[in-house]
Amino acid sequence: MDNSGGRRAGGRQWRFGPNDVLAGSATVSIREVLGRVMANIQEDGPRPVIPLGHGDPSVFPCFRTTPVAGDAVVSAVRSAKYNCYAPTIGVLPARCAIAEYLSLDLPYKLSPDDIFLTGGCTQAIEVIISVLSRPGANILLPRPGFPFYESRCAFSGLEVRHFNLVPERSWEVDLEAVEALADENTVAMVVINPGNPCGSVFTYQHLAKVAETASKLGIMVIADEVYDHLTFGENPFVPMGVFGEVVPVLTLGSISKRWVVPGWRLGWIAISDPNGVLKETKIVDGILNFLNISSDPATFIQGAIPHIIEFTKDDFFNKIIDLLRQTADMCYEKIKEIECITCPHKPEGSMFVMVKLNLSHLEDINDDVDLCHKLAKEESVIIAPGSALGMKNWLRITFAIDPSSLEDGLDRLKSFCQRHAKQNK
Ligand SMILES: *Cc1c(COP(=O)(O)O)cnc(C)c1O
Repeated sequence: MDNSGGRRAGGRQWRFGPNDVLAGSATVSIREVLGRVMANIQEDGPRPVIPLGHGDPSVFPCFRTTPVAGDAVVSAVRSAKYNCYAPTIGVLPARCAIAEYLSLDLPYKLSPDDIFLTGGCTQAIEVIISVLSRPGANILLPRPGFPFYESRCAFSGLEVRHFNLVPERSWEVDLEAVEALADENTVAMVVINPGNPCGSVFTYQHLAKVAETASKLGIMVIADEVYDHLTFGENPFVPMGVFGEVVPVLTLGSISKRWVVPGWRLGWIAISDPNGVLKETKIVDGILNFLNISSDPATFIQGAIPHIIEFTKDDFFNKIIDLLRQTADMCYEKIKEIECITCPHKPEGSMFVMVKLNLSHLEDINDDVDLCHKLAKEESVIIAPGSALGMKNWLRITFAIDPSSLEDGLDRLKSFCQRHAKQNK
Protein backbone atom coordinates (compact mmCIF):
# COMPACT_ATOMS: atom_id res chain seq x y z
CA MET A 1 0.00 0.00 0.00
CA ASP A 2 1.22 3.48 -0.74
CA ASN A 3 1.43 5.61 2.38
CA SER A 4 3.45 8.41 0.87
CA GLY A 5 0.89 10.55 -0.85
CA GLY A 6 -2.25 10.11 1.21
CA ARG A 7 -5.29 8.02 0.31
CA ARG A 8 -8.46 8.44 -1.66
CA ALA A 9 -11.62 7.71 0.28
CA GLY A 10 -15.08 9.18 0.08
CA GLY A 11 -14.11 11.02 -3.07
CA ARG A 12 -11.34 13.00 -1.41
CA GLN A 13 -7.59 12.80 -1.14
CA TRP A 14 -6.63 12.42 2.55
CA ARG A 15 -3.16 13.19 3.78
CA PHE A 16 -2.92 10.54 6.50
CA GLY A 17 -2.20 6.81 6.77
CA PRO A 18 -0.74 4.54 9.43
CA ASN A 19 2.91 4.17 10.32
CA ASP A 20 4.44 1.77 7.75
CA VAL A 21 5.41 -0.84 10.35
CA LEU A 22 1.88 -0.92 11.76
CA ALA A 23 0.37 -1.12 8.28
CA GLY A 24 2.36 -4.25 7.43
CA SER A 25 2.55 -7.73 8.84
CA ALA A 26 5.73 -7.15 10.89
CA THR A 27 3.77 -6.70 14.09
CA VAL A 28 1.49 -9.73 13.86
CA SER A 29 0.69 -10.72 17.44
CA ILE A 30 -0.40 -13.91 19.11
CA ARG A 31 -3.66 -12.15 19.93
CA GLU A 32 -4.27 -11.55 16.26
CA VAL A 33 -3.42 -15.15 15.32
CA LEU A 34 -5.76 -16.46 18.04
CA GLY A 35 -8.40 -14.03 16.83
CA ARG A 36 -8.24 -15.68 13.40
CA VAL A 37 -8.52 -19.13 15.00
CA MET A 38 -11.49 -17.92 17.09
CA ALA A 39 -13.23 -16.66 13.96
CA ASN A 40 -13.81 -20.31 12.99
CA ILE A 41 -15.91 -21.05 16.06
CA GLN A 42 -19.47 -21.95 15.09
CA GLU A 43 -21.81 -19.45 16.68
CA ASP A 44 -24.21 -21.05 19.20
CA GLY A 45 -22.58 -24.46 18.84
CA PRO A 46 -23.82 -27.15 21.22
CA ARG A 47 -20.62 -27.30 23.29
CA PRO A 48 -18.69 -24.69 25.24
CA VAL A 49 -15.50 -23.29 23.73
CA ILE A 50 -12.34 -24.71 25.36
CA PRO A 51 -9.61 -22.06 25.40
CA LEU A 52 -6.21 -23.78 25.20
CA GLY A 53 -4.73 -20.85 23.30
CA HIS A 54 -3.68 -18.17 25.73
CA GLY A 55 -2.44 -18.23 29.29
CA ASP A 56 -5.07 -16.40 31.31
CA PRO A 57 -6.65 -18.82 33.76
CA SER A 58 -8.18 -16.02 35.86
CA VAL A 59 -11.68 -16.78 34.55
CA PHE A 60 -11.68 -20.22 36.17
CA PRO A 61 -12.81 -20.28 39.82
CA CYS A 62 -10.08 -22.80 40.73
CA PHE A 63 -7.45 -20.29 39.62
CA ARG A 64 -8.98 -17.32 41.43
CA THR A 65 -6.44 -15.07 43.10
CA THR A 66 -6.05 -14.95 46.85
CA PRO A 67 -8.54 -12.75 48.77
CA VAL A 68 -5.46 -11.08 50.28
CA ALA A 69 -4.82 -9.43 46.92
CA GLY A 70 -8.36 -8.18 46.43
CA ASP A 71 -8.50 -6.86 50.00
CA ALA A 72 -5.21 -5.02 49.49
CA VAL A 73 -6.58 -3.27 46.41
CA VAL A 74 -9.83 -2.36 48.17
CA SER A 75 -8.00 -0.80 51.10
CA ALA A 76 -5.61 1.02 48.79
CA VAL A 77 -8.60 2.56 46.99
CA ARG A 78 -10.48 3.33 50.23
CA SER A 79 -7.47 4.97 51.83
CA ALA A 80 -7.67 7.75 49.21
CA LYS A 81 -3.87 7.89 49.40
CA TYR A 82 -3.48 6.67 45.83
CA ASN A 83 -5.73 8.96 43.85
CA CYS A 84 -2.68 10.92 42.73
CA TYR A 85 -0.25 10.51 39.84
CA ALA A 86 2.55 8.17 40.82
CA PRO A 87 6.23 9.07 40.46
CA THR A 88 7.66 7.99 37.10
CA ILE A 89 9.42 4.91 38.46
CA GLY A 90 6.59 3.92 40.81
CA VAL A 91 5.69 4.56 44.46
CA LEU A 92 8.51 3.87 46.91
CA PRO A 93 6.78 1.30 49.19
CA ALA A 94 5.95 -0.85 46.15
CA ARG A 95 9.53 -0.66 44.87
CA CYS A 96 10.83 -1.55 48.36
CA ALA A 97 8.49 -4.55 48.56
CA ILE A 98 9.50 -5.84 45.11
CA ALA A 99 13.20 -5.31 45.83
CA GLU A 100 12.85 -7.40 48.98
CA TYR A 101 10.73 -10.04 47.26
CA LEU A 102 13.31 -10.54 44.48
CA SER A 103 16.30 -10.33 46.86
CA LEU A 104 15.08 -13.42 48.73
CA ASP A 105 16.40 -15.54 45.84
CA LEU A 106 19.61 -13.57 45.16
CA PRO A 107 23.11 -13.65 46.66
CA TYR A 108 23.05 -9.83 46.94
CA LYS A 109 20.38 -7.27 47.85
CA LEU A 110 18.46 -5.19 45.36
CA SER A 111 17.64 -1.64 46.40
CA PRO A 112 14.32 0.07 45.62
CA ASP A 113 16.30 2.19 43.14
CA ASP A 114 16.91 -0.98 41.12
CA ILE A 115 13.16 -1.42 40.58
CA PHE A 116 11.03 0.35 37.96
CA LEU A 117 7.28 -0.31 37.91
CA THR A 118 5.62 -0.92 34.56
CA GLY A 119 2.21 -1.71 33.14
CA GLY A 120 2.67 -5.48 33.36
CA CYS A 121 5.65 -7.35 32.00
CA THR A 122 4.37 -6.29 28.57
CA GLN A 123 5.35 -2.67 29.16
CA ALA A 124 8.64 -3.80 30.69
CA ILE A 125 9.44 -5.46 27.35
CA GLU A 126 8.36 -2.35 25.46
CA VAL A 127 10.63 -0.18 27.62
CA ILE A 128 13.73 -2.27 27.31
CA ILE A 129 13.41 -2.92 23.58
CA SER A 130 12.88 0.81 22.99
CA VAL A 131 15.91 1.69 25.11
CA LEU A 132 18.15 -0.78 23.26
CA SER A 133 17.04 0.18 19.74
CA ARG A 134 20.02 2.00 18.30
CA PRO A 135 20.59 2.08 14.53
CA GLY A 136 22.47 -1.04 13.45
CA ALA A 137 22.02 -2.88 16.76
CA ASN A 138 20.67 -6.41 16.94
CA ILE A 139 19.20 -8.61 19.66
CA LEU A 140 19.10 -12.40 20.08
CA LEU A 141 15.67 -13.93 20.72
CA PRO A 142 14.67 -17.54 21.44
CA ARG A 143 12.80 -19.67 18.93
CA PRO A 144 10.16 -20.68 19.83
CA GLY A 145 9.47 -17.59 21.86
CA PHE A 146 7.02 -14.92 22.86
CA PRO A 147 6.15 -13.00 19.68
CA PHE A 148 5.58 -9.71 21.46
CA TYR A 149 9.39 -9.31 21.46
CA GLU A 150 9.56 -9.67 17.68
CA SER A 151 6.73 -7.17 17.22
CA ARG A 152 8.29 -4.56 19.51
CA CYS A 153 11.65 -4.99 17.77
CA ALA A 154 10.00 -4.57 14.37
CA PHE A 155 8.29 -1.42 15.58
CA SER A 156 11.51 0.01 17.05
CA GLY A 157 13.70 -1.04 14.13
CA LEU A 158 15.86 -3.36 16.25
CA GLU A 159 17.22 -6.25 14.18
CA VAL A 160 16.24 -9.70 15.50
CA ARG A 161 18.38 -12.83 15.26
CA HIS A 162 16.97 -16.15 16.48
CA PHE A 163 18.72 -18.88 18.38
CA ASN A 164 16.96 -22.21 18.85
CA LEU A 165 15.76 -23.83 22.01
CA VAL A 166 16.56 -27.52 21.62
CA PRO A 167 13.63 -29.90 22.27
CA GLU A 168 15.91 -32.93 22.71
CA ARG A 169 17.82 -31.09 25.43
CA SER A 170 14.85 -30.05 27.60
CA TRP A 171 14.49 -26.95 25.39
CA GLU A 172 17.83 -25.54 26.53
CA VAL A 173 19.40 -22.63 24.69
CA ASP A 174 21.61 -23.61 21.76
CA LEU A 175 24.61 -21.69 23.04
CA GLU A 176 26.82 -22.46 20.03
CA ALA A 177 24.16 -20.79 17.91
CA VAL A 178 24.18 -17.78 20.23
CA GLU A 179 27.94 -17.41 19.76
CA ALA A 180 27.66 -17.83 16.01
CA LEU A 181 24.87 -15.25 15.70
CA ALA A 182 26.40 -12.53 17.83
CA ASP A 183 28.60 -9.81 16.40
CA GLU A 184 29.88 -6.42 17.54
CA ASN A 185 26.40 -4.93 17.10
CA THR A 186 24.63 -7.44 19.33
CA VAL A 187 23.35 -5.81 22.52
CA ALA A 188 21.38 -8.46 24.41
CA MET A 189 19.90 -11.93 24.50
CA VAL A 190 16.48 -12.81 25.90
CA VAL A 191 15.92 -15.78 28.20
CA ILE A 192 12.36 -16.69 29.20
CA ASN A 193 12.48 -18.94 32.26
CA PRO A 194 10.24 -20.71 33.29
CA GLY A 195 9.55 -20.94 29.60
CA ASN A 196 6.68 -19.79 27.49
CA PRO A 197 5.95 -21.63 25.18
CA CYS A 198 7.94 -24.76 26.12
CA GLY A 199 7.12 -25.21 29.81
CA SER A 200 10.83 -25.69 30.45
CA VAL A 201 12.70 -24.75 33.63
CA PHE A 202 16.43 -24.19 33.20
CA THR A 203 18.91 -25.68 35.63
CA TYR A 204 21.39 -23.61 37.61
CA GLN A 205 24.18 -25.09 35.50
CA HIS A 206 22.54 -24.14 32.21
CA LEU A 207 21.84 -20.59 33.38
CA ALA A 208 25.48 -20.32 34.49
CA LYS A 209 26.55 -21.23 30.95
CA VAL A 210 24.14 -18.69 29.49
CA ALA A 211 25.67 -16.03 31.74
CA GLU A 212 29.24 -16.97 30.78
CA THR A 213 28.39 -16.94 27.09
CA ALA A 214 26.70 -13.54 27.28
CA SER A 215 29.56 -12.15 29.32
CA LYS A 216 32.10 -13.39 26.79
CA LEU A 217 30.12 -11.73 24.00
CA GLY A 218 29.82 -8.47 25.95
CA ILE A 219 26.01 -8.47 25.86
CA MET A 220 23.43 -8.21 28.63
CA VAL A 221 20.81 -10.80 29.48
CA ILE A 222 17.14 -9.84 29.50
CA ALA A 223 15.55 -12.36 31.85
CA ASP A 224 11.79 -12.62 31.35
CA GLU A 225 10.73 -14.20 34.64
CA VAL A 226 7.04 -13.45 34.44
CA TYR A 227 6.45 -17.13 35.47
CA ASP A 228 8.80 -16.90 38.47
CA HIS A 229 8.23 -19.73 40.95
CA LEU A 230 5.59 -21.40 38.76
CA THR A 231 7.55 -24.67 38.64
CA PHE A 232 6.27 -28.15 39.40
CA GLY A 233 8.95 -30.53 38.12
CA GLU A 234 12.42 -31.41 39.38
CA ASN A 235 14.23 -28.18 38.63
CA PRO A 236 13.61 -25.35 41.07
CA PHE A 237 13.24 -21.81 39.78
CA VAL A 238 16.62 -20.04 39.67
CA PRO A 239 16.51 -16.35 38.80
CA MET A 240 19.02 -15.20 36.18
CA GLY A 241 19.97 -12.40 38.56
CA VAL A 242 21.92 -15.00 40.58
CA PHE A 243 24.56 -14.54 37.85
CA GLY A 244 24.45 -10.74 37.98
CA GLU A 245 28.14 -10.68 38.98
CA VAL A 246 29.02 -12.54 35.78
CA VAL A 247 26.87 -10.57 33.36
CA PRO A 248 24.49 -7.61 33.76
CA VAL A 249 20.90 -8.83 33.92
CA LEU A 250 17.64 -6.95 33.43
CA THR A 251 14.93 -8.98 35.13
CA LEU A 252 11.37 -8.52 33.90
CA GLY A 253 8.42 -9.68 35.96
CA SER A 254 4.87 -9.01 37.07
CA ILE A 255 2.13 -10.18 39.37
CA SER A 256 0.06 -11.28 36.35
CA LYS A 257 0.93 -14.98 36.37
CA ARG A 258 1.93 -15.96 39.90
CA TRP A 259 -1.02 -14.10 41.42
CA VAL A 260 -3.28 -14.84 38.39
CA VAL A 261 -4.30 -11.19 37.95
CA PRO A 262 -3.14 -10.29 34.43
CA GLY A 263 -5.79 -7.58 34.23
CA TRP A 264 -4.23 -5.59 37.08
CA ARG A 265 -1.32 -4.54 34.89
CA LEU A 266 1.49 -4.36 37.35
CA GLY A 267 4.98 -5.42 36.36
CA TRP A 268 8.58 -4.36 36.84
CA ILE A 269 12.08 -4.08 35.52
CA ALA A 270 14.74 -5.02 38.07
CA ILE A 271 18.38 -4.06 37.56
CA SER A 272 20.12 -7.28 38.66
CA ASP A 273 23.60 -5.92 38.22
CA PRO A 274 25.71 -5.59 41.39
CA ASN A 275 28.70 -4.36 39.34
CA GLY A 276 26.76 -1.33 38.10
CA VAL A 277 27.47 -1.95 34.41
CA LEU A 278 23.97 -0.91 33.35
CA LYS A 279 24.32 2.37 35.18
CA GLU A 280 27.74 3.07 33.71
CA THR A 281 26.56 2.31 30.18
CA LYS A 282 23.56 4.68 30.67
CA ILE A 283 20.98 1.93 30.18
CA VAL A 284 19.42 2.88 33.52
CA ASP A 285 19.14 6.52 32.38
CA GLY A 286 17.55 5.30 29.16
CA ILE A 287 14.92 3.36 31.12
CA LEU A 288 14.17 6.36 33.30
CA ASN A 289 13.89 8.67 30.31
CA PHE A 290 11.61 6.28 28.48
CA LEU A 291 9.35 5.95 31.54
CA ASN A 292 9.18 9.75 31.70
CA ILE A 293 7.42 9.75 28.34
CA SER A 294 5.04 6.83 28.93
CA SER A 295 2.21 6.07 31.32
CA ASP A 296 2.34 4.25 34.68
CA PRO A 297 0.42 1.42 36.27
CA ALA A 298 -2.66 2.66 38.18
CA THR A 299 -1.44 4.21 41.44
CA PHE A 300 -3.82 2.24 43.69
CA ILE A 301 -2.48 -1.06 42.34
CA GLN A 302 1.01 0.19 43.15
CA GLY A 303 -0.29 1.11 46.61
CA ALA A 304 -1.61 -2.42 47.14
CA ILE A 305 1.67 -4.16 46.27
CA PRO A 306 3.42 -4.16 49.67
CA HIS A 307 0.39 -5.78 51.29
CA ILE A 308 -0.07 -8.31 48.47
CA ILE A 309 3.57 -9.39 48.64
CA GLU A 310 3.81 -9.49 52.41
CA PHE A 311 0.55 -11.25 53.22
CA THR A 312 -0.04 -13.75 50.43
CA LYS A 313 0.22 -17.14 52.10
CA ASP A 314 2.18 -20.10 50.81
CA ASP A 315 -1.11 -22.02 50.80
CA PHE A 316 -2.28 -19.96 47.85
CA PHE A 317 0.94 -20.44 45.86
CA ASN A 318 0.98 -24.16 46.65
CA LYS A 319 -2.62 -24.57 45.54
CA ILE A 320 -1.86 -22.98 42.16
CA ILE A 321 1.31 -25.07 41.75
CA ASP A 322 -0.56 -28.29 42.60
CA LEU A 323 -3.24 -27.43 40.08
CA LEU A 324 -0.67 -26.69 37.36
CA ARG A 325 1.16 -29.93 38.14
CA GLN A 326 -2.10 -31.86 37.88
CA THR A 327 -3.14 -30.24 34.59
CA ALA A 328 0.37 -30.47 33.09
CA ASP A 329 0.43 -34.20 33.91
CA MET A 330 -2.99 -34.72 32.42
CA CYS A 331 -2.01 -32.81 29.29
CA TYR A 332 1.17 -34.84 28.87
CA GLU A 333 -0.59 -38.19 29.37
CA LYS A 334 -3.48 -37.35 27.04
CA ILE A 335 -1.15 -36.08 24.30
CA LYS A 336 0.63 -39.46 24.42
CA GLU A 337 -2.65 -41.10 23.37
CA ILE A 338 -2.87 -38.96 20.22
CA GLU A 339 -1.00 -40.54 17.35
CA CYS A 340 -0.26 -37.50 15.21
CA ILE A 341 1.10 -35.38 18.09
CA THR A 342 4.24 -35.87 20.14
CA CYS A 343 5.51 -33.99 23.15
CA PRO A 344 9.32 -33.95 23.30
CA HIS A 345 9.52 -32.71 26.85
CA LYS A 346 7.11 -32.85 29.74
CA PRO A 347 6.29 -29.34 30.98
CA GLU A 348 7.86 -28.46 34.34
CA GLY A 349 6.87 -24.84 34.66
CA SER A 350 4.84 -21.90 33.30
CA MET A 351 1.43 -22.70 31.77
CA PHE A 352 2.36 -24.05 28.34
CA VAL A 353 3.68 -26.99 26.41
CA MET A 354 4.97 -27.23 22.83
CA VAL A 355 3.97 -30.33 20.91
CA LYS A 356 4.93 -31.50 17.44
CA LEU A 357 2.49 -32.31 14.72
CA ASN A 358 3.14 -35.27 12.45
CA LEU A 359 1.27 -34.32 9.29
CA SER A 360 2.01 -37.62 7.56
CA HIS A 361 -0.55 -39.21 9.90
CA LEU A 362 -3.27 -36.81 8.81
CA GLU A 363 -5.44 -36.91 5.73
CA ASP A 364 -6.68 -33.43 4.90
CA ILE A 365 -4.70 -31.07 7.13
CA ASN A 366 -2.21 -28.79 5.37
CA ASP A 367 -0.29 -27.42 8.33
CA ASP A 368 -0.53 -26.23 11.96
CA VAL A 369 -2.63 -23.19 11.09
CA ASP A 370 -5.05 -25.30 9.07
CA LEU A 371 -5.36 -27.76 11.96
CA CYS A 372 -6.08 -24.98 14.48
CA HIS A 373 -8.74 -23.43 12.25
CA LYS A 374 -10.49 -26.76 11.56
CA LEU A 375 -10.22 -27.77 15.22
CA ALA A 376 -11.92 -24.52 16.24
CA LYS A 377 -14.63 -25.05 13.67
CA GLU A 378 -15.34 -28.72 14.35
CA GLU A 379 -14.59 -29.06 18.06
CA SER A 380 -14.72 -25.51 19.50
CA VAL A 381 -11.21 -25.98 20.90
CA ILE A 382 -8.74 -23.09 20.60
CA ILE A 383 -5.02 -23.89 20.27
CA ALA A 384 -2.20 -21.59 19.12
CA PRO A 385 -0.42 -22.68 15.92
CA GLY A 386 3.35 -22.99 16.43
CA SER A 387 4.07 -20.94 13.33
CA ALA A 388 2.91 -17.89 15.28
CA LEU A 389 5.90 -18.53 17.57
CA GLY A 390 8.40 -19.40 14.85
CA MET A 391 7.80 -23.20 14.85
CA LYS A 392 5.79 -24.34 11.86
CA ASN A 393 3.80 -27.56 12.37
CA TRP A 394 4.04 -27.40 16.12
CA LEU A 395 1.28 -26.40 18.50
CA ARG A 396 1.31 -24.48 21.75
CA ILE A 397 -1.18 -25.76 24.29
CA THR A 398 -1.93 -24.14 27.62
CA PHE A 399 -2.92 -26.48 30.41
CA ALA A 400 -3.76 -23.65 32.82
CA ILE A 401 -7.51 -24.14 32.77
CA ASP A 402 -9.79 -26.05 35.08
CA PRO A 403 -9.05 -29.80 34.93
CA SER A 404 -12.44 -30.97 33.67
CA SER A 405 -12.43 -28.47 30.78
CA LEU A 406 -8.87 -29.48 29.95
CA GLU A 407 -9.86 -33.13 29.84
CA ASP A 408 -12.82 -32.32 27.61
CA GLY A 409 -10.63 -30.18 25.29
CA LEU A 410 -7.95 -32.85 24.92
CA ASP A 411 -10.57 -35.54 24.28
CA ARG A 412 -12.00 -33.40 21.52
CA LEU A 413 -8.50 -32.88 20.07
CA LYS A 414 -8.05 -36.65 20.09
CA SER A 415 -11.30 -37.37 18.31
CA PHE A 416 -10.51 -34.63 15.79
CA CYS A 417 -7.16 -36.28 15.05
CA GLN A 418 -8.78 -39.73 14.76
CA ARG A 419 -11.39 -38.39 12.37
CA HIS A 420 -8.71 -36.81 10.17
CA ALA A 421 -6.24 -39.69 10.36
CA LYS A 422 -4.93 -41.30 7.19
CA GLN A 423 -6.59 -44.65 6.70
CA ASN A 424 -3.61 -46.60 5.35
CA LYS A 425 -0.38 -44.98 6.49
C1 LIG B 1 2.29 -13.20 29.86
C2 LIG B 1 3.69 -12.89 29.44
C3 LIG B 1 4.19 -11.58 29.46
C4 LIG B 1 3.32 -10.40 29.76
O1 LIG B 1 3.01 -10.31 31.10
P1 LIG B 1 1.97 -9.22 31.65
O2 LIG B 1 2.41 -8.97 33.03
O3 LIG B 1 0.62 -9.83 31.56
O4 LIG B 1 2.08 -8.00 30.79
C5 LIG B 1 5.52 -11.38 29.14
N1 LIG B 1 6.32 -12.41 28.80
C6 LIG B 1 5.87 -13.68 28.73
C7 LIG B 1 6.81 -14.77 28.34
C8 LIG B 1 4.54 -13.96 29.03
O5 LIG B 1 4.07 -15.21 28.92
